[in-house]
Amino acid sequence: MSTNLLANLWNDADASLMSEPELLQYRSNLLGSDMRVTNYGGGNTSAKLQMDDPLTGQTTTVLWVKGSGGDIGSMGLAGFSTLYLDKLNQLLSLYPGVEFEDEMVAYLPHCTFNLNSRAASIDTPLHAYLPYLHVDHLHPDAVIAIAASKNSQQLTEDIFNGEIGWLPWRRPGFQLGMDLHKIATENPHLKGVVLESHGLFTWANDNKECYLNSLNIINKAQIWLEQQGAGKAVFGGKRFNTIPEDKRRQVVSRLMPLIRGKTSEKQRQIGHFNACDEVLQFVNSMDLERLAKLGTSCPDHFLRTKIRPFVVAYDPQKDNLDEVIESLDRSLADYRDDYAGYYQRCKRDNSPAMRDPNPVIYLIPGVGMLSFAKDKATARIAGEFYVNAINVMRGANSVSEYVGLPEQEAFDIEYWLLEEAKLQRMPKPKSLAGHIALVTGGAGGIGLATAKRLATEGANIVLMDIDEETLAVAKNELTNEFGKDCASSIKMDVTHEEDVVRAIKHCALAFGGLDIVVSNAGIASSAPLEETSLELWNKNQSILSTGYFLVAREAFALLKQQNMGGNMVFIASKNGLVASANASAYCVAKAAEIQLSRCVALEGAPLGIRSNVVNPDAVLRGSKIWTGKWKEERASAYQLSTDDLEEHYRQRSMLKLNVLPEDIAEAIYFFASDASAKSTGNILNVDAGHAPSFTR
Ligand code: NAD
Repeated sequence: MSTNLLANLWNDADASLMSEPELLQYRSNLLGSDMRVTNYGGGNTSAKLQMDDPLTGQTTTVLWVKGSGGDIGSMGLAGFSTLYLDKLNQLLSLYPGVEFEDEMVAYLPHCTFNLNSRAASIDTPLHAYLPYLHVDHLHPDAVIAIAASKNSQQLTEDIFNGEIGWLPWRRPGFQLGMDLHKIATENPHLKGVVLESHGLFTWANDNKECYLNSLNIINKAQIWLEQQGAGKAVFGGKRFNTIPEDKRRQVVSRLMPLIRGKTSEKQRQIGHFNACDEVLQFVNSMDLERLAKLGTSCPDHFLRTKIRPFVVAYDPQKDNLDEVIESLDRSLADYRDDYAGYYQRCKRDNSPAMRDPNPVIYLIPGVGMLSFAKDKATARIAGEFYVNAINVMRGANSVSEYVGLPEQEAFDIEYWLLEEAKLQRMPKPKSLAGHIALVTGGAGGIGLATAKRLATEGANIVLMDIDEETLAVAKNELTNEFGKDCASSIKMDVTHEEDVVRAIKHCALAFGGLDIVVSNAGIASSAPLEETSLELWNKNQSILSTGYFLVAREAFALLKQQNMGGNMVFIASKNGLVASANASAYCVAKAAEIQLSRCVALEGAPLGIRSNVVNPDAVLRGSKIWTGKWKEERASAYQLSTDDLEEHYRQRSMLKLNVLPEDIAEAIYFFASDASAKSTGNILNVDAGHAPSFTR
């Protein structure tokens, strides 16, 4: 018995408490919770429900159908658009033919029920005209494998014994809605339809029955594929072995920043690495090159992945990474030329301009898959879609021959004007979208405030800190606020060379490279000169001077390799400019930081790498430095109680203000962003005014 079958997750007790729309949401969420049923954002579900019309008070039939841009796995009721079914039926009399599909979409908002603001999707007619109350349109890997096989019609008949119909490939729209209506009406015994190269439609007149029918059909396809594939070599058999984990990380951390640097001209790219079993089986196989060339078939897949992936010419046996890197410019140029050729061959008079011709998916034998996109979630999801595509190719190849969609059809989907309009409607990217920022001491007061400020502007964050416990808390705070893809963390000690090397590599592995370095890890110490032990002196030097040097050196090397410029921000202190009594070890180490930043500014300028300093002063709130001995020592130096210290600093400042971590974070953001594009080698004091610290 297959272990890959979908389980029935329906719970009658839960369902008995739900309204009809809630039951539709329940069914949708259950189906969408499994990526084998439908990919993220793919597929749609609907119900035709009786509702009171707010205009007439009469009962009317309303089509509830997943609206534009939703995901059935996670959507709530607000994700459904609602439309009068009788008005949708009237639209058929206006339909002039397939060449006017785009124009017809403009009529959909006229059918809106109850002022629902959720835009209706282009798949709406596919649900509206099927003569069943409940319809699921899904993209299950097992069924797409059949839909993307050379003899998909015959296979559909064989597998489903006539229970499931078959329709040739057609773009979604009114014509496909009418085709579905026709096949379902003429064949009342059908429980669904396979749409060539695309996916599955299933239906019933009851919510639960519709859910079970979808599950049953997908499981039938899965069992059949497994029976047919049993004993056959997958993807033509194995060609390479996966290389050891350590080595894989080395290959990936070298390749990702290089690829990122060479493909970010139009738009900064963020990378994702995936080495799941499905990917490794495919990249290590005999058929990798041949199948990769055929491209992905399901439109949902290639809209995310581009039709063809880029196969990296890495040979794990020869370990020819240097050769691969040497030829990377040429092979990427070939890929872009190939994409431009496809655009030129297929473009129509009114096609939108060519989009970024760089690859999205990179397949590396022995290693895994990289995916690059404008942000982490998009890159991760593109990778997941390619895993769906791999599953489809595996299934199709085990029973027949996998066929990609004809080039022109694929182009018409990729450059569909409605798709373009959707892209144009996307909000303007934030100022640090596509940027990767590391923050050392990221679990501390200023570090976490900085991470949040940069994440608010769309940056991806790598938090680094020696304190594992508070690091985990800080990362959780970030991901709760900005989403699970926004941050990664790594425990490290800035004074340990190997730790720093590993942590900088981690930036490449986690997001594909690095743009912004916020060197902020720190301590503070206080002791009169004669009582300053060598140990205390060295501690300050090792964290604040040597630690900043190590981070700067390793990050500089990565920025240079990546060749996209970069930004370093050193968090020093007013004590780096002005000597304070009883703090020689700290003051000298902070002065070293400031001078180091200037050296980086000098060497970095020709590479577009800027380096600047932010000097905080007396940031008591949120700071761990100010919870320990330092606070007591400072208070006793001024003969105050620790509780009075914050007010003391406020009164000492020229502006009579307290300085907060968020104030420091704002200055760091300024230096990290293009707002300061023409500043390097500078110092910005954030101290509410302290005349002795005026820079000169
Ligand atoms: P904080 O103690 O809240 O944060 C510092 C973080 O650095 C902590 O999470 C700590 O675990 C981490 N850290 C310490 N040693 C480390 C090491 N060896 N490797 C990696 N991480 C290490 O302090 P904060 O106030 O947020 O200070 C941040 C920076 O600002 C420090 O460099 C500090 O010197 C500087 N600064 C702070 C003030 C202030 O008033 N708070 C004033 C001037 C300068």
